[in-house]
This record gives sequence, C-alpha cells and structure tokens, in this order.
Amino acid sequence: MSVVIIGAGHAGSQLAVSLRAEGYAGAVTLIDAADALPYHKPPLSKTFLKDPAALPQPLRAASAYDTAGVERRTGMVTAIDTAARVVMLDGEALLYGDLVLATGARNRMLPDLAGAANVHSLRDLADAMRLREALAQAQRVTVIGGGFIGLESAAALAGIGKSVTVLEAAPRVLARVAAPETSRHVQETLTGLGVTLRLDWTGQGYRRDGDRVTAVLGATDDIPCDLILVGIGAVADTALAKAAGIACNMGILTDAHLRTSAPHVWAIGDVAETPHWQAGAALRIESVQNATDQARHLARLLSGAEPTPFRTVPWFWSDIGPLKLQIAGLAIWADRRVMRDEGARLAVFHLAGDRLMSVETLNSPADHMIARQLLESGRTPPDAVMVEGAAALKAWLAQG
Ligand SMILES: Cc1cc2nc3c(=O)[nH]c(=O)nc-3n(C[C@H](O)[C@H](O)[C@H](O)COP(=O)(O)OP(=O)(O)OC[C@H]3O[C@@H](n4cnc5c(N)ncnc54)[C@H](O)[C@@H]3O)c2cc1C
Repeated sequence: MSVVIIGAGHAGSQLAVSLRAEGYAGAVTLIDAADALPYHKPPLSKTFLKDPAALPQPLRAASAYDTAGVERRTGMVTAIDTAARVVMLDGEALLYGDLVLATGARNRMLPDLAGAANVHSLRDLADAMRLREALAQAQRVTVIGGGFIGLESAAALAGIGKSVTVLEAAPRVLARVAAPETSRHVQETLTGLGVTLRLDWTGQGYRRDGDRVTAVLGATDDIPCDLILVGIGAVADTALAKAAGIACNMGILTDAHLRTSAPHVWAIGDVAETPHWQAGAALRIESVQNATDQARHLARLLSGAEPTPFRTVPWFWSDIGPLKLQIAGLAIWADRRVMRDEGARLAVFHLAGDRLMSVETLNSPADHMIARQLLESGRTPPDAVMVEGAAALKAWLAQG
C-alpha cells in the first residue's frame, strides 16, 4: 500500500499530511520539481512583492511531514506508466499503489513577449523572487491583464511607489468573475491608489531595445515601461497526464470521487476538472479552498472511508490593496442579482430565479461567512433580508 503524490502545492501538501491524520498506514511520497518547503502562494502577489525582506510562508513546518512519515522528494516527474504503476522521477522508477496528480497550473504567456528580459509572470516563488529583484531597477510597471493576480500585484506595486498601468482588453476589470458593481468599486480603489487603468485596450505591438520591451503600443498612444507583468490567466498542467493517456479536457478529467480515467490514478487541485454539484458540469477551479478540500476528501477516501462524491461550497478571496474580495458559490447560472452597496462595503447576491447561487462581497466578511452557510443549507432568504444586512441574514438563518 503506497501513495505517490506529484506536486507539493496547496493540494499535494495537504493530502500528504491528511492521509496520515485519516489513519492511512502505507508509504506516502510527496514529489515536487521545486526544492522548497511547500509554501503559501497567495502572498506572492500581495505582501511578498512589497517587502524585499519578506520570506516565503511555509504551508507547514518540515517537522509536520516528518511526523506524518511523509517522504519528500525533489525532482521532475517525466513519465507515468499506468499499466506498470510506475512514475519516472528524474530517471528513477518509483512504484505506486495509488498515484495522485496535483500538478497545478501554468501561466499563459503572450507569445510576442515570451523570453524578453523585463517581462514577468507570477506563478511560483522563483517568479516572485525574480520579479521582486527586477522591481528594484524599475519605476514604470505595465500590468497586462485585469484579473486577480494582475490587480493584486498592481495595488501592491502602487503601494511601494511604482507608477503602474493596467491594460485590460475588456470594458471592465474582473469581467469574467465578478459583477459590474464589484468591478466599479475595484476600479475606483485602484485609481485612488494611483494606478492608471486602460480598459478596452487594443494592443498594437511592442517597442523593443535589445532583449527588453520599452513600450506597449496602443491604438492611440504608447505606454512606456521599465517592466511588464503578464497576468492573463493560467492553464492546467496536464502534459504528464496526457502523455500517459489519461483523459483530459481543460484539466485532468475526474469523476465525482476524484478518480481519473486510469485505475489507481487520482487528480486534485487546480489541475483537476471535476463534476460540480452547483454547475451541473465538470469544472476546473483555481483556489486554495478547492485544492485543500479536495485533498482532505481524497485522504479520507484513500484511507478507506465510504466513497462519497466531493461536494463543498466553493469560496475564494483576493486582496486588492485595501479591498478584501470574497466569493462564495458559483454564479454560472445566475440571471439576477440583489445588492447592498454601503460605499465602504459591498454585497452582491447572485440568484438563478429564486435560488441563491453565489455571493460576492467587498470588505464584508460577515456577509461572506453567512453566504457560505446559506449556500450549504440550500436556503434563499427574501430579497429584503439580503438588502437589510448581515445581522438580518444571520437572524433569518437561525430561524431554521
Ligand atoms: C500569485 C498567486 C496568488 C494567488 N492568490 C490566491 C488567493 O488569494 N486566493 C486563492 O484562493 N487562491 C489564490 N491563488 C491560487 C492558488 O494558489 C491555487 O489555486 C493553488 O495553489 C492550487 O494548488 P495546487 O496544489 O493544485 O497547485 P500548485 O499550488 O500550483 O502546486 C502544483 C505543484 O506541482 C509541481 N509540479 C508540476 N508538475 C510537476 C512534475 N512533473 N514533477 C514534479 N512536480 C511538479 C509544481 O512545481 C507545483 O509546486 C493564487 C495563485 C497564485 C499563483
């Protein structure tokens, strides 16, 4: 009996220690390409950029893996033989009883910018260290992409006195993931921090000087820059799975129990595309909560618990300067929204007809916590209660 886990990010690290906590008695091997104690990724686009002395924050102490009897290995897994139940780790063959793919996601890059000396993206500690070092010599920063990582970084860099411009092709930031009201608040806050937002941006190419990009060219004007951060999303790291003949779509396809198409092979975290109870379809979710909850679920399963489908209320947070954006649930099928805009705080309730699907909040953690409970219970309060406030929601929920 043994489990080999490929990827020691939020999902893999959680699984390794949870297996033992659930009573798993076999060997547990946790492999990662990076030679670092598994660390929190969210700070990399937030506090880590602001403080040149900030250190990575380990997910857990090295002793936690030792206590759990987890063998940590550093190296790149290059192939999987699902028939022989073997993975190749830098040329060494490792046998597995069960294999878990927790390989995460890779950032998208604009082909025209790939390889330029002053172009950056942000996915792991090595990226963050390279970016932070380069910032010492850069004043004008152009962020391409108004998504979570781009905006968090833009706010952080404005906070340390950089002159930041965000280029976004859509008419508003966070257009794919948040309500227009949320986008408006975020835009106002960023502008207040001194960030220049260029929405509806149509790029016309780049000006170069040797291996550096010195300006991004637009339809009407150019944006000179010392450094470019590309934040245009990520794709699941499915290469290994695909080469092994494991079924993939946008991610590695799993059933509701996190099983892939190959026997004894499972997938969790950013890389997994798993049937979602709220969406009614398979989805890939990029969040710490999804990665750690799937890991805990799989740990129970591999430790012999009765198989039950993975089902949690998804939630996510993003810190954009002084704004804490929190989202609970999925707004996929929502067709109307109810809003409470208190200036400094915002709560947007997304409904499909009379059913609550998702709640988006800015600086309103009380609403977020109640939203999670409401979504878990499947109950939808009257619109008037949602408009009234978190205390009213709590009282309504308590009524049963
Ligand atoms: C800068 C940044 C900020 C973020 N902020 C937030 C936030 O505020 N809130 C939030 O909820 N989420 C946030 N996220 C998303 C969150 O970090 C991810 O959802 C989470 O890390 C997913 O965990 P994972 O274990 O699936 O993948 P990862 O944490 O990406 O881990 C995958 C690991 O697999 C390893 N690997 C891949 N292939 C191989 C191989 N062949 N051999 C060996 N090792 C391999 C990689 O080295 C990597 O360490 C952020 C992400 C980033 C990059």
